[in-house]
Amino acid sequence: MVLSKYKAVIQIRGCFWHSHSCPRGKPPKSNVNYWGTELAKTRVRDAKNDNLLRKNEWRVFVIWECTLKSEKDLNIIADKIATDLLGKIVVTSECESEGS
Ligand SMILES: [Zn+2]
Repeated sequence: MVLSKYKAVIQIRGCFWHSHSCPRGKPPKSNVNYWGTELAKTRVRDAKNDNLLRKNEWRVFVIWECTLKSEKDLNIIADKIATDLLGKIVVTSECESEGS
């Protein structure tokens, strides 16, 4: 999800493919070499993308698959992102109006 107005990107990541530090992010016990290589490739690609976005002053929010299990969790995350993004904008407009 790209919010170009706020220069923000919200990424929903699958725990398995993106090696999240939760039980669902653990690699399989079979074909260890194959999965090790595949999952490492994904991690490198993620890091590259994140770095590129941050370099261009984009804000990157990551939502993990496992946190989407409950609606409550999603709401907390959405609130956090909205507060973060909107908070920045509110501060800017307040400064402008106070000066007049
Ligand atoms: Zn997870």
